[in-house]
Amino acid sequence: MQTGNLIGGEFVKPASGKSITVFNPADDQPLAEVPDVGEDGIARAIDAASKAFPGWSATPAIERAEILRRWAGLMLRDAERLASRMTAEQGKRLAEAEGEIRYAASFLTDAAAHAETLLGHQVPSPKRDMRITAIRQPVGVCAAITPWNFPSAMLARKLGPALASGCTMLAKPAHQTPLSAIAMAELGVVAGLPDGVFNLVTCDAKLFSETVFADSRVRKVSFTGSTPVGRLLMKLASENLVRLSLELGGHAPFVIFEDADLDAAADGLIASKFRNAGQTCICPNRLYIHASVYDEAMDRLRQKIEKLKVGPGDAEGVKIGPLISDDAMEKVERHVADAKQHGAEVLCGGERAKPQANGRTLADRFYTPTLLSGLKPAMAMAKEETFGPVIGAASFDTEAEAIGLANSSPYGLASYYYTRDHSRAIRVAEAIRAGIVGVNNGGVSTAQAPFGGVGLSGFGREGGPWALDEYTDVKYISTGVAEG
Ligand code: NAP
Repeated sequence: MQTGNLIGGEFVKPASGKSITVFNPADDQPLAEVPDVGEDGIARAIDAASKAFPGWSATPAIERAEILRRWAGLMLRDAERLASRMTAEQGKRLAEAEGEIRYAASFLTDAAAHAETLLGHQVPSPKRDMRITAIRQPVGVCAAITPWNFPSAMLARKLGPALASGCTMLAKPAHQTPLSAIAMAELGVVAGLPDGVFNLVTCDAKLFSETVFADSRVRKVSFTGSTPVGRLLMKLASENLVRLSLELGGHAPFVIFEDADLDAAADGLIASKFRNAGQTCICPNRLYIHASVYDEAMDRLRQKIEKLKVGPGDAEGVKIGPLISDDAMEKVERHVADAKQHGAEVLCGGERAKPQANGRTLADRFYTPTLLSGLKPAMAMAKEETFGPVIGAASFDTEAEAIGLANSSPYGLASYYYTRDHSRAIRVAEAIRAGIVGVNNGGVSTAQAPFGGVGLSGFGREGGPWALDEYTDVKYISTGVAEG
């Protein structure tokens, strides 16, 4: 298993001698050591990306697209192997990890398709002796900072459109999950990426961002992670006016109207809430149910949630894997305790789980999927992302009240609601303040759609043609034409 950093086309272990240990969150067993590079390693990656930029940006888009498609093909070929590595370092169940590899590969192929059709404009001129053309050009060297919860997909979502547009990139994965990123980088080299087009470094996060933003050759940074870190990056970006995309935290509302298909709504909630043990940016954190169907909907939900098996991601039948860290467990427990103090009733879960281990010593990092009734705006879980397998519910009486509750958060990434009323579906979609709206649909993520938030969830879009806008500048060319 490769564990080095990819810099200038070679896997290297720069000489600082320091390393980062990667652990399995399910049992705390060490998996690998990756380098902890200093400023020198990061600077070498910027140099490599910078040297590669002229050649890569001049490469015909169709050739760049071919490499991205080959890369995606290799990921699909090796999906099982990559998934097992991801489950080991991240914890999610194997089926979800394999799904993530496919999802990640789809960002490379989607970006490849858009690279081939990246259009400029010929605009009608107001003058006889002038022509107006607008072309799109790659912004230059880009840097990516990615989180641990989707270690392949979040990287592919940046890499695909950046490389498709003709940019070069250096990336820093989260310290908990560098192995999935390194595995992707290895396949990129096999797919034929020219040296330096993509570079991957593992290092201190603060050092990475400070070094990258201080180097005027880096023209764009794309970040996926928490809102507090997003704020810090925005400050750093101001010095060199670096372009930014910030895919930040969410606090999704999930609304069930009185005319909804309750079983479909329960399945949608479970799919979106409990995927990755509730550690996704688009998972619902607040459940609002019309008062007339509240008890029935909660009962159906409870019955389904109680069946979700907790355990290590590689064990048979498991639906909920471990939390990523002890801090994550502390936050989940704090939210549940705070909700109980505010009067919430625990309908199921509400405690740590002790899954069967078959002789393996597991970490104390598993939490029982939890349904709480009596969500109130003052509760911590109504304001902060819980990032765990816990959902709290409250009832409402009118559509206007439901919209008000849904919009009561400064975050605005995903939102969901279930209704059979066509006009209501349109009214609510238009009224909800969020980058993504799932109408009778709990599984909104796909590489072809624009993914991103508003408000404290950040800005920028990933997926589809919108993703390439983030990595290109529009250049206006005004041509004087003498009359013949
Ligand atoms: P995080 O603490 O912000 O970390 C994310 C990345 O930022 C990691 O690579 C981390 O590196 C790095 N980082 C930490 N401090 C930094 C600093 N001072 N300067 C530069 N980089 C820094 O977030 P997380 O807890 O890993 O991830 C969960 C968060 O990501 C949640 O809020 C979730 O909603 C959000 N998320 C959003 C999306 C989206 O598309 N909107 C998708 C997935 C996740 P180290 O690991 O080395 O510290």
